[in-house]
Amino acid sequence: MADPNVRYESMVKKLRERGCKLTPQRLAVARVLAVSQGHPNVEAIFERLQDSFPTMSLATVYRNLMLFKSLGEVLELGFPDGSNRYDGNKPFPHPHVICVRCQKIIDPDLGSLKDMTAEVADETGFDILSHRLDFFGICGECKSKTQKEGKGRR
Ligand SMILES: [Zn+2]
Ligand SMILES: [Zn+2]
Repeated sequence: MADPNVRYESMVKKLRERGCKLTPQRLAVARVLAVSQGHPNVEAIFERLQDSFPTMSLATVYRNLMLFKSLGEVLELGFPDGSNRYDGNKPFPHPHVICVRCQKIIDPDLGSLKDMTAEVADETGFDILSHRLDFFGICGECKSKTQKEGKGRR
């Protein structure tokens, strides 16, 4: 993952460049996004800020999230059920592996992605600008839970 401090500084720099106000709440949202590895949803970000900013509303968190998204400083992972998740650590398109049981999302390191992009461009004649690549499955933790439960029932 990227250095959270570097990510945070880059977000603050972008806010300055665009003339956005550096409110304590906004900076706190940036901090949470920079340190989060687990692709939190807006509620999770809100909860993490409750202790330091008990009066901050979910709507404020969401507004700031959308600001960072519009600045290209956070990647939004949209899902059909509306439970969008956010990656402020790697704000550029990258593949994800998603557990269908516990909704854990991780970033796999895929060496073949560059080749795949080149192949898609070759095949279609498109200039590839972006991609969305999600793998769905069952994570190791959920798998071992299922096995234990299975044994318990026997
Ligand atoms: Zn899982
Ligand atoms: Zn990610």
